[in-house]
Amino acid sequence: MKKLHTLSHQDWSQAGLLKEILAVEGIACLIRNEQLSAAIGELPFTECFPELWVIDDEVFPRAKLLLAAWLKIPERPLQGWVCPNCGEELEGNFGACWSCGQERE
Ligand SMILES: [Zn+2]
Repeated sequence: MKKLHTLSHQDWSQAGLLKEILAVEGIACLIRNEQLSAAIGELPFTECFPELWVIDDEVFPRAKLLLAAWLKIPERPLQGWVCPNCGEELEGNFGACWSCGQERE
């Protein structure tokens, strides 16, 4: 069993949603620390964050990919592009040409 993800705040509903999304893909998960939520105030804050654990190590890499897609973390920087109007080379994070205003296709 491997820890997939620790949610950044005490969002148990999001943890549950993520668990369901992975379950649909055939990946069984556990949410841990759940039982500690009742003890908030007696434990360090971070100890109560929900953690998502993948039960089967073999599907862990796939779970990781699904999680990344779900969190919308780009795996690599956006590709640069060349403005079709004026030929300006632009970085991937530009949605439009800064030179002539042409929108990215
Ligand atoms: Zn342009």
